[in-house]
Amino acid sequence: MHPIYPLDLNFLNRKEAIAAYLIPYKGGAVLVETGSGSTVKELSQNLWKYGLKPQDVTHVLLTHLHLDHAGAAGWLAMQGAHIYVHPVGEQHMKDPEKLLSSAKRIYGDKMDFLWGEFLPVPVDKLSSVLDQEQIVAGDLVFTAIHTPGHAEHHISWLFEDTCFTGDVGGVRMPGVLYLRLPLVPPELDFDKWRQSLTRLSEIGFQNIAPTHFGIYEDAQAHLRLAKQILDENELWMESTFTNEKPIELLRELYMAFLNEQGTKLGVGEETLKTSEVANPSWMGADGLLRYWNKHRR
Ligand SMILES: [Zn+2]
Repeated sequence: MHPIYPLDLNFLNRKEAIAAYLIPYKGGAVLVETGSGSTVKELSQNLWKYGLKPQDVTHVLLTHLHLDHAGAAGWLAMQGAHIYVHPVGEQHMKDPEKLLSSAKRIYGDKMDFLWGEFLPVPVDKLSSVLDQEQIVAGDLVFTAIHTPGHAEHHISWLFEDTCFTGDVGGVRMPGVLYLRLPLVPPELDFDKWRQSLTRLSEIGFQNIAPTHFGIYEDAQAHLRLAKQILDENELWMESTFTNEKPIELLRELYMAFLNEQGTKLGVGEETLKTSEVANPSWMGADGLLRYWNKHRR
């Protein structure tokens, strides 16, 4: 088994909020996820700890193009890495203008502070990856599993007995088994998400490595809980959204619902806070409202 090193990108000075995963091999290193443009310094420092430079990264496997996962891909391509994405995300990596303008609508003038620079990836440094396609780096083999639900262009990467689940497996912090699912607009889809979780369960790998945060050896229990939490969220939406409420109130109610869910599972306050940084609840309320208007109204 090859060692996998979680790199803590120390996002907004929070430990264990955003990870990139490092797998060194004879010819260099593979990185699953890149963190954001605002954490490239931390990324370099982390690589340095393992005796590596950014120029040693040969392959970057992205789960999807959200800014906390793929924000430094263009920068890594400039250092020489080749970037692998879902076919639906390829165009946005070449020309991130559209992606960035929709992110700007969400984050406004905090955009640069939060996410830094999102550079485009040159065409000759970019490949799209089909479902079940394998990427080989030296003696390492990674398999792409297309897993929509959180985003249409989401890939989970299977490597030996570990699966890097990006956001589709939810957000988990070390400690008690507790998950939050980032139900973000605009592509949230409960049915596709459920199918993706079932598919991941059926593969039967032992370790699960969500980008937020860490590697856990109880992948099956994790995925079961993810499905349960997905169902609970959908039920909550159905009972809450039936009569019209302003978004501010929905955001408040949703945060209360998540905190109650967490407390029931025995989660401490610090973990709830880090979950909130990695996966803000207001965005979940917005995602649910968008989904409700699109699919249920
Ligand atoms: Zn995401």
